[in-house]
Amino acid sequence: MNIRTRFAPSPTGFLHVGGARTALYCWLYAKRFGGQFILRVEDTDLERSTPEAVQAILDGMAWLGLNHDEGPFYQTHHFDRYKQVINEMLTVGTAYRCTCSKERLEQLREHQMQNKEKPRYDGCCRDKNLPATDEPFVVRFKNPQTGDVVINDLVLGEVIISNEELDDLIIARSDGTPTYNFTVVVDDMDMRVTHVIRGNDHLNNTPRQINMLRALGVEPPLYAHLPMILGDDGKKLSKRHGAVSVMQYRDDGYLPNALLNYLVRLGWAHGDQEIFTLDEMIQYFDIADVNKAASAFNTEKLLWLNHQYIKQQPVEYVAKHLQWHIEQLGLDVTKGPALTDIIVALRDRCYTLKELAEKAVFCYHAPHTYDQEAYDKHVTPDVIPYVQQFKAKLAELIDWSAPAIHDVLQQVVTDNQIKFPKIAQPVRIAVTGSTNSPSIDVTLALLGKQETIARLDRFINNK
Ligand code: GLU
Repeated sequence: MNIRTRFAPSPTGFLHVGGARTALYCWLYAKRFGGQFILRVEDTDLERSTPEAVQAILDGMAWLGLNHDEGPFYQTHHFDRYKQVINEMLTVGTAYRCTCSKERLEQLREHQMQNKEKPRYDGCCRDKNLPATDEPFVVRFKNPQTGDVVINDLVLGEVIISNEELDDLIIARSDGTPTYNFTVVVDDMDMRVTHVIRGNDHLNNTPRQINMLRALGVEPPLYAHLPMILGDDGKKLSKRHGAVSVMQYRDDGYLPNALLNYLVRLGWAHGDQEIFTLDEMIQYFDIADVNKAASAFNTEKLLWLNHQYIKQQPVEYVAKHLQWHIEQLGLDVTKGPALTDIIVALRDRCYTLKELAEKAVFCYHAPHTYDQEAYDKHVTPDVIPYVQQFKAKLAELIDWSAPAIHDVLQQVVTDNQIKFPKIAQPVRIAVTGSTNSPSIDVTLALLGKQETIARLDRFINNK
């Protein structure tokens, strides 16, 4: 079987982490079986869909690297096709015109509510075989009136819904536009989707969609409904819990693969393995192993994973994403040390790329000011001769490496019988402006000889 999955977001906002997890599972499943992953933008709700939201989804998917094999398709480009299928259904009698007025439907509803019945269309026009006239009409699907719909959900197991629970759904409004459940059905059919993987907030739609697909003469795809993602307080994940937009995670300094790794584990496990390469995810992921229960989003764990990724991923990969953060700070990456060197020097202590970029600012320009408190504490008049000595020795240094720089510092310490911080702290302030920098030898190695000496000169002359 050639597996075909689709991610079908409605462009009414940004790509959120719930959507991203759905997309990831669809993507992984298609990749695992050498199938196709389709991106379909469900933009038929013209009032709520915006071009900005479409772009936000495309950007989010691109940043995550969840590339589609087919698409992006836009449902608004398929209106002729939907119309054609509606006409075919009217012709064969699996759909019918309904001219019930708003008032009648309202009365019916009130009556049903009073009798504590579930509000549903009563099939008034079902067997009238109404032709198209000037009178306004909607088109309804002729849902089977007896029997059950059995969903063998790949996550939830068997779900059975009686057709008596379902009424005749409107598939075309009085202005001729198709309704949401119908467009999904036509597209899933036309795109030959084999596995519908989506949030379980769509479970209610599934029996109706299955009935429509059968009426169209096609075997429905398999369904997998994913449990919700909750916030760490057990409530449905929302903005209240902090970042939920995928692009906000980029802005906050997460690596896309760290976020993917976090999301794959949110509702799925492979033994107790926590860190997966993309290839491992593809190799191990199976929709059948997805948890039925909702999972809670844990920002601390995501942060931990990001830290592991920053430390362990190939520096070139980290550099590609760090560059964006450096540029966000208004710095020119070509004017500093190689990004890969910056990463090796700083990554052990950084949990996000944003943090890494901020810690790297000293690499791009001399400090505009010195941290006053640190300065007053560490830069007493007696330290200047030590800094001068240090600078003179550095000027002679040929091997500009962290261990060699460390040896020079050690010599100044020994020659003057002082403690290490007595020289290290003023030097730190001189080159970075404050005492918050990685070890001083690594810092100077990164900065380069010429720049280090220039900054030490400036510091000495300033005194
Ligand atoms: N467009 C729907 C949504 O964004 C998804 C529909 C589906 O996957 O069938 O929630």
